[in-house]
Amino acid sequence: MSLSSWLANRLGPLSSFRKLSSAMKYFPVFMDLAGRDVLVTGGGEKALQKLRLLAKTTARVTVVAETISPEIGFLSQRHALSLQLRRLRPEDVEGKALAIGADDDARLNTELAEAAHAAGVAVNVVDAPELSTVIVPAIVDRDPVVVAIGTEGAAPIIARDLRTRIESWLPADFGRVASTAAALRPRVRAAIAQPAARRRFWEEFLRGPFRDRALAADLAGADQEAARALRDAGKGNHGSVVLVGCGPGDPDLLTLKALQALQDADVLVHDRLVNPAILDYARRDAVRIDVGKTPGGKATPQNEINRILVREALKGQRVARLKGGDAMVFGRAAEEIAAVRAAGIDVTVIPGITAAHAIAASVTLPPTLARKVRQLSVVTGATDDGAAELDWRALAAPGQAFAIYMGVRGAATIQQNLIKAGADPTTPVVIVENGTRPEERVIETTLADLGPAVIAEAVTAPAVIFVGLGWDEACLSRPARATLFAAVASQSAYPLSNDTTGHSPERIGRRA
Ligand code: SAH
Repeated sequence: MSLSSWLANRLGPLSSFRKLSSAMKYFPVFMDLAGRDVLVTGGGEKALQKLRLLAKTTARVTVVAETISPEIGFLSQRHALSLQLRRLRPEDVEGKALAIGADDDARLNTELAEAAHAAGVAVNVVDAPELSTVIVPAIVDRDPVVVAIGTEGAAPIIARDLRTRIESWLPADFGRVASTAAALRPRVRAAIAQPAARRRFWEEFLRGPFRDRALAADLAGADQEAARALRDAGKGNHGSVVLVGCGPGDPDLLTLKALQALQDADVLVHDRLVNPAILDYARRDAVRIDVGKTPGGKATPQNEINRILVREALKGQRVARLKGGDAMVFGRAAEEIAAVRAAGIDVTVIPGITAAHAIAASVTLPPTLARKVRQLSVVTGATDDGAAELDWRALAAPGQAFAIYMGVRGAATIQQNLIKAGADPTTPVVIVENGTRPEERVIETTLADLGPAVIAEAVTAPAVIFVGLGWDEACLSRPARATLFAAVASQSAYPLSNDTTGHSPERIGRRA
């Protein structure tokens, strides 16, 4: 199961990726407690849990509690905790880097929080985010690698489940990879001056044989790998361009290669077809260049995009050109590839799921059907110069199905051209706007009503229009959220099934 659908199961409809990436309440940081003072109140199980964690640091820990459990007594001997067996006093918080309220007595925790707030000391009260200025994440500890997981207090169970998953996925000795690598840093710094080149070195190095050697505790082998990699590092480290098909929007539809390319890229060149949620999967320090719109609202011209790709790659950057859907379908890929190659730069392509395929799955509408639809075309409804001239006669022939991309604006013209070329006006049409995204809309109509449907339902791009495909033809039920549309004028010709007959309103509404 994918991560986001798993989250969706946990969180319900709240978990649309849009919402997940909205404003954070808590800013995640790691706090240096080396040699600093920390106060913990409470002498029971809650306090013990926090003290075990604090015992991994070199903080000076004071415990204030009227009574303590034997386990805390034992821990204090091994870790030199300072025990104060008395009631909390407000001045206890003074000079502390952090105060933790873990008392079983809620009143004492409140007193601690008040004292800490008054003194401006960071405070966490166990299970009481409303009293806390900081919260403690769930962690996976592979020291020095620590994964911290927070849910802003909303759903600790999710944090726990995620932690279990990460625990099982991250090798127990993973920390050794990091600490062995840390020891190499001065050598790498000396050998590779340029920061971007250095990062590339680390990316390849930490995924290669060095990692396996370090995990296997073969430190001599790890050192040999390091020496070899550093020798090779001097040889050619020019930039590159990768065209990445990012799919139709849902980040779970990224391929593993696309994900890897997103994380490797130094520069991301994206446009408005790429769902912003997908950018969250890239490195945070990667430069983002939006070629989708300028402040004036106009898209960057294609040759300007080509120039940007070349310019960034020539700086030695790894450039990812992010494309909606598949990288090669109606994406001006040929021009970009040619321009990049002409500058002597390597270019590769990672395929993505094109809109029509993703939508077919999302609305359960097979784009080919045994004995009925033997040919599926993908056509563009628009070109740079306006409406596209297509072979209308071929498209109008019976048994055809096709997906129109970029067809919203020209919908009425497309309808006219097809009918003039002999297409049956009752041919089923399915329009899907924002396919696979939380705001996906599905409208079913007929060719005779295509233009009116686009206007009446205020369809906007991006949308795919399927002609010659419908759920009835496939003997499948249409999704409950699909809207049936029939204009009044074409009522008599309206072929949509059984229980839609006899309606007069423009819009026949939803079907269960
Ligand atoms: N390379 C893209 C297509 C780019 S052309 C791909 O393979 O999907 C842009 C057109 O793609 C849009 O006008 C629309 O017709 C279609 N499209 C892209 N993403 C879409 C989405 N999420 N929902 C519906 N249509 C989409």
